[in-house]
Amino acid sequence: MNMIFERKLTIPKELKEMYPLKPALRETVEKRNKEISDIFTGKSDKFVMIIGPCSADREDSVLDYISRLREVQEKVKDEIFIIPRIYTNKPRTTGAGYKGMLHQPDPESKPDMLKGIIAIRELHMRALEETGFSCADEMLYTENYKYLDDVLAYVAIGARSVEDQQHRLTSSGIEVPVGMKNPTSGDLSVMMNAINAAQHKHTFIYRGWEAHSQGNPLAHAILRGYTDRYGKSFPNYHYEDIINVGKLYDEQGLENPAIVIDTNHANSGKDPFEQPRIAKEIVFNMKYDSKVKSLVKGIMTESYIVDGCQKVGGGVYGQSITDACIGWEKTERLIYDIAEAL
Ligand code: PEP
Ligand code: MN
Repeated sequence: MNMIFERKLTIPKELKEMYPLKPALRETVEKRNKEISDIFTGKSDKFVMIIGPCSADREDSVLDYISRLREVQEKVKDEIFIIPRIYTNKPRTTGAGYKGMLHQPDPESKPDMLKGIIAIRELHMRALEETGFSCADEMLYTENYKYLDDVLAYVAIGARSVEDQQHRLTSSGIEVPVGMKNPTSGDLSVMMNAINAAQHKHTFIYRGWEAHSQGNPLAHAILRGYTDRYGKSFPNYHYEDIINVGKLYDEQGLENPAIVIDTNHANSGKDPFEQPRIAKEIVFNMKYDSKVKSLVKGIMTESYIVDGCQKVGGGVYGQSITDACIGWEKTERLIYDIAEAL
């Protein structure tokens, strides 16, 4: 192979020994896992908001942002269950650009994978310790899931990974809800097949082991909009889209039919300021139709401290260096508006 193998990295078991989860925090994770599971199985009708920056680019501003969410969460706790997004690894369309904290703990320095695995575990653990939130991340690299499996509340499989077998099989061995995004083409059968695969048991190779997954009944759909062959964005969060996915669930006989709607990406045509309108339309449709209400478990929203985005090195504290987000003021307003509308 034309690759330089620089050093063998710490395995998940060793990393967890170096950075163990305190028993009290383990309890927090378990308590939240139960609450989240009750939402996805329909025992609780709280509305989930998976919300936060497109990428967790630096520890200080991400923790600042999540601490603000904690204050809002207390005020809306009867209606809304917040799961902050701490996305530590980013898929890149051409492979170029910032690949997340896992690769570059400092976005302006060169990649350092050892520092990266430590940084992402520390960030998720600090969020838990300082705010009581267990968070969501994207599983971009299946073999890395075990570095974080004891702290994550929610796992997303991205639009570019959802057709991949190893992602599907690994998801079938995860205990928390795994959201399968529709692929960038919008082909819903790819997403449904991913959910189907993840809900069943499999035998496969995982991190050098012959492993037997037990099936994940909480695997579900995330609608993120799609692009056509000319790269134009189209939404799939409307009433008809949701009803249609409900029918696909019925046809496949899957467990716990559930949909999360991503309000950004191709649904907003990458205009983050459309997100509040989209979120409100979804809540409106949930109130209009009981089938929509039972299917839609919540939304995924890209939000940070400062509106918009900047280039890497732009120097604006709390502004995204990947997809544009809504800033803090709009975020707070949105959460309160949804709580009121529910
Ligand atoms: C994201 O959630 O930031 C993301 C990369 O989403 P998608 O996989 O839908 O493009
Ligand atoms: Mn994004």
